[in-house]
Amino acid sequence: PTFSHLGIDSLLVKAVNALNYQQPTPIQQTAIPAILQGRDVVAGAETGSGKTAAFALPLLQRLSQQAQTSQAKGNQIRALVLAPTRELAIQIGQAINSYGQYLQPRLKVCTVFGGVSINPQMLALRGGADIVVATTGRLLDLMAHNALKCDALAYLVLDEADKMLGLGFSEELTQILKVLPKKRQNLLFSATFPPELQQLIEQLLHQPLEINL
Ligand code: AMP
Repeated sequence: PTFSHLGIDSLLVKAVNALNYQQPTPIQQTAIPAILQGRDVVAGAETGSGKTAAFALPLLQRLSQQAQTSQAKGNQIRALVLAPTRELAIQIGQAINSYGQYLQPRLKVCTVFGGVSINPQMLALRGGADIVVATTGRLLDLMAHNALKCDALAYLVLDEADKMLGLGFSEELTQILKVLPKKRQNLLFSATFPPELQQLIEQLLHQPLEINL
């Protein structure tokens, strides 16, 4: 199949063509239609599988189809992507921007992580964002500063979830999950599924499509 066959809109297809993606990878073939339908997804996925586009393309499409509601004012964000490391966060943010480069209007993506000054990130979040890509600690700092609000959040992505737990971010993750609206679509990607992660998946995901390729 092609990306168009999977239901991806032409402006997003134009972007993946520009990146010279010839055809969807197996995880993309399975995940994209399910995510477009609004399903929760849990996928066993290694780096190199194409997992970023597997969630980013349908996420961009759904966000651009659903116009920002008028009550979503202030520093509201619509989608949150959590990553275990700043390197991964930066990589995801860049990928999302390249996939979304031809969308009209463009979606606003903010990437936030620790180890750098918080002020530019607070400024960038003024007026809200369509997608925030974040590491857990800095996201909590920004929430404590009221730099972003999650009342309108409809999408949560956890990337490399096993690594997030392995690095000891379980408590931070729990704190974040507490303040997110219950009604949302959840997507979780992980290379391995240790028992602690299985528990999280049961709490977090609603009748997910399980992808194991
Ligand atoms: P990821 O697994 O998301 O880290 O992606 C691994 C690499 O594969 C990245 O460099 C992507 O740009 C690339 N990639 C993702 N999807 C495709 C595709 N359908 N065809 C060719 N390359 C791809």
